Amino acid sequence: MKIIMLGAPGAGKGTQAKKIAEKYGVPHISTGDIFRANIKNGTELGNKAKTYMDQGLLVPDELTVALVIDRIQGEDCKNGFVLDGFPRTIPQAEALDEALKGLGEAMDYAIDVDVPDENIINRMSGRRACLDCGATYHIVTIPTKVEGICDACGSKVVLREDDKPETVQKRLEVYHAQTQPLIDYYKGQNILKTVDGTQPMEAVFGAIVGILGA
Ligand code: ADP
Ligand code: ADP
Ligand code: ZN
Repeated sequence: MKIIMLGAPGAGKGTQAKKIAEKYGVPHISTGDIFRANIKNGTELGNKAKTYMDQGLLVPDELTVALVIDRIQGEDCKNGFVLDGFPRTIPQAEALDEALKGLGEAMDYAIDVDVPDENIINRMSGRRACLDCGATYHIVTIPTKVEGICDACGSKVVLREDDKPETVQKRLEVYHAQTQPLIDYYKGQNILKTVDGTQPMEAVFGAIVGILGA
């Protein structure tokens, strides 16, 4: 089962991708998490990616595509994977299709988690992320059990630098210009499925299970 999560920043892609990964036993591959881990470890890739991420811009395709193409060929991806935050541009989508074709494979589903811009700023200002394990919470809708502490690993949760309203606005513009065209791209391949992402987390997941099968 090879799945792509589409949707605006803050639509709930990561939240749903983790649940899909758990239920269907496939790895969750988040390019944002990979970049943040590289930033934390001070790698060259991390240093390069950070300059773009801090401004709400996309990391260039040259730094992104090879990384994902390599990752999906890992042994743990044999039964599929869920891509969260990739592809984000048409050239990324084309490179992914090309690589899969070379392996005799193709994506099965592109799930668009649909949330209008009006809801996004709230979602993002309330998001709290654990930079140690990648877990995400929301101060109102999906709070941690102990305020400020990650349920999963006990580290501190923080407001990501790029989740501040100024940067979120920029990220939304970038989303509409560069990523939204992927909706038509996957519609054209007959693998697009849309779910209403404004529903509570469990209802969104229910809709996704309805698509993927129990
Ligand atoms: P969100 O989940 O809020 O959409 P991500 O964690 O997916 O945010 O991404 C954070 C940032 O990492 C993006 O704003 C962008 O700078 C960079 N990034 C992540 N994935 C990609 C990608 N596929 N192509 C280019 N940049 C990316
Ligand atoms: P994305 O990966 O698309 O950027 P996230 O999964 O990180 O989005 O979700 C963005 C924020 O919204 C997080 O704070 C998350 O806890 C919260 N969230 C996710 N899904 C829902 C939902 N269905 N209803 C309300 N809040 C949600
Ligand atoms: Zn954690």
